[in-house]
Amino acid sequence: SDHDIEYPLTPDRMDWTTLYGDYANGRTVEFADVGCGYGGLLMQLSPRFPETLMIGLELRVKVSDFVTEKIEALRQKATTSGDTGAGFKNVACLRSNAMKYMPNYFGKGQLTKIFFLYPDPHFKNRKHKWRIVTPGMLAEYAYVLRPGGLIYTMTDVQDLHEWMVAHLSSHPLFERLTKEEEDADPVVPLLFESTEEGQKVTRNHGSKFPAVFRRKENPVEK
Ligand code: SAM
Repeated sequence: SDHDIEYPLTPDRMDWTTLYGDYANGRTVEFADVGCGYGGLLMQLSPRFPETLMIGLELRVKVSDFVTEKIEALRQKATTSGDTGAGFKNVACLRSNAMKYMPNYFGKGQLTKIFFLYPDPHFKNRKHKWRIVTPGMLAEYAYVLRPGGLIYTMTDVQDLHEWMVAHLSSHPLFERLTKEEEDADPVVPLLFESTEEGQKVTRNHGSKFPAVFRRKENPVEK
């Protein structure tokens, strides 16, 4: 149950220094890993984008607590080892329901990357309403994502892949990256192995279906 989740009424009421300390000053969160699980992707992204604040949204309390503790340990280790980069101060995990509260945390056009890695494990049994990619949810992602920003999806479930591609491709505000553009994006290789779920799929010799979508410019109003 998620009735106990605290969330800001509006994004400007969110105090990000509680998660990033002084590192939040003058910066806004730009990357969101939705259903981040144990946070493997964020740990890989953190040193690669030291100036960018990134957040994992995770529904399970124990899992989000685990990620928060892991980040704290990495920050301390970075401090003692004299890390000159972000030292994991740019990464945090928030326990929340991304299907309910994204617009409470992020303003219009705030995000530049949203990740959905191995979401919806029970895709087939789920009611449409609770799928992470639905027409209603796409409107929210389009709102918080900046034009030119990217949505990354990865799954081992072919039906889910086809569902996400169909909905995102037919949406007026998203377009799929070409194969060439996908290959040129240095983040794409991280979608395969950086997370715990990705490693599990590899161990089980499962398939992996990545896709990347660009948030288009808003149409000019006539
Ligand atoms: N992305 C991670 C990975 O690749 O290892 C985790 C994948 S796991 C199969 C899906 C995760 O999404 C779970 O940890 C689950 O708790 C989380 N989740 C499901 N629905 C969510 C929601 N509405 N908001 C936030 N997290 C959610």
